[in-house]
Amino acid sequence: MTVTGSVHSWDISTGVDGPGTRFVVFTSGCPLRCLYCQNPETWRMRDGHRTTVDELLTEITKYRRFIEVAGGGFTVSGGEPLLQPDFVAELLHRVRALGLHTALDTSGYLGARATDTLLADTDLVLLDIKSWDPTRYRRLTTVDLAPTLAFARRLSELDRPVWVRYVLVPGLTDDLDDIDGLASFVSTLHNVERLEVLPFHRLGTVKYTKLGIPFPLEHTPTPEPDLVRQVRERFARRGITTT
Ligand code: SF4
Repeated sequence: MTVTGSVHSWDISTGVDGPGTRFVVFTSGCPLRCLYCQNPETWRMRDGHRTTVDELLTEITKYRRFIEVAGGGFTVSGGEPLLQPDFVAELLHRVRALGLHTALDTSGYLGARATDTLLADTDLVLLDIKSWDPTRYRRLTTVDLAPTLAFARRLSELDRPVWVRYVLVPGLTDDLDDIDGLASFVSTLHNVERLEVLPFHRLGTVKYTKLGIPFPLEHTPTPEPDLVRQVRERFARRGITTT
């Protein structure tokens, strides 16, 4: 039976969704509502297109040689891919069977839905840890932090490679004590290859305007270079490589 999922779109990207040039599938549907979300058009599963794994494989195969030469791979992103775990598991399995490097971009909130088999078919997890403080995390995302931390620990136990992502938002995720807490937690994991500090930007504002919904961080500035430097330094103190 062909597995079907709700997909918003797919694209080729370089340097933002894992190593090298990648074929990226954006799934539809996400249980979070992050204040800084740059992809609000992916929030609702019913807005996506019903797509089979076979259809996506046909597209991916067209780019396979190009991706291999560019030292890249395949990334499933969203939305939240783990909202459709069977579809994503089949997709990762089939793409990996082509010999391509596979990555899963996730908030980790639904990490319990990822089977060990799905994770074995995932060469890299891009794990967003959006805040260290549970109250701030809830205010930022509308959901609990604990499932993401549990997923991070499980990935460490399974020894699956992880890049942690941290979006730095002035006035929201720039508390240096929180960052020390996150750095301390990440330093206990054995599988984190790097931590990406991603400075907040407002490029997604136009999408909100198009959807007719207010962008909550419309007036939030991008972080000053000195703040970005200080945050990177806090992670470096714990021996964590940042990019
Ligand atoms: S988890 Fe990602 S897609 Fe979902 S609301 Fe947050 S930033 Fe947007």
